[in-house]
Amino acid sequence: ADKMNLVIQKIRSFPDFPSKGILFRDVCPILKDPKALTAVIDLFEEHVRQTYTQVDLIVGIDARGFLFGPLLAQRLGIGLALIRKKGKLPGPTVSVAYSLEYGKAEAEMQVDAVEPGQKVLLIDDLLATGGTLYAACELLRKRQAEVLGCLVLVQLTDLDGAQRLKPVSVFSLTEY
Ligand code: 5GP
Repeated sequence: ADKMNLVIQKIRSFPDFPSKGILFRDVCPILKDPKALTAVIDLFEEHVRQTYTQVDLIVGIDARGFLFGPLLAQRLGIGLALIRKKGKLPGPTVSVAYSLEYGKAEAEMQVDAVEPGQKVLLIDDLLATGGTLYAACELLRKRQAEVLGCLVLVQLTDLDGAQRLKPVSVFSLTEY
């Protein structure tokens, strides 16, 4: 509970960002405080060790999944794969199109980032509608990886993202 409080204290809210009517949850202050950042990784590590007997790979989601994913992967002694916005990764890739609140986006992963049959956990800073993590799950399924679950710091429960991701489970440190 102490660790959780340390984390929650460091999440700020900005009204009308990036557009009017959106209340943006900002996790950047966590990065400024090594104790809070350590607490985030401790809490994820505890959850993963308690929940899964084997995890082969952490998959970080562009861009804020990249901040926490490598730290967790190192803790667990496993590797990291990246899912990025289209056009950022060299070599053979797989991609999937998905819709955002406004317009469309495409997520992409290097073909050799994950091996068929690998058990993977996805990580991002925040779950809203679930569109981003859903697309990421699709990419991993295309490469025959087994998605064990998704990890996020923040879940916005009104938007039903966890419902959208079912049967893949979501673990969040905090909810709004
Ligand atoms: P979704 O696809 O679930 O609707 O949106 C989640 C994605 O958008 C995540 O990659 C997340 O980083 C970003 N995002 C959406 N809203 C917020 C927010 O309020 N705060 C932060 N930090 N990220 C957000």
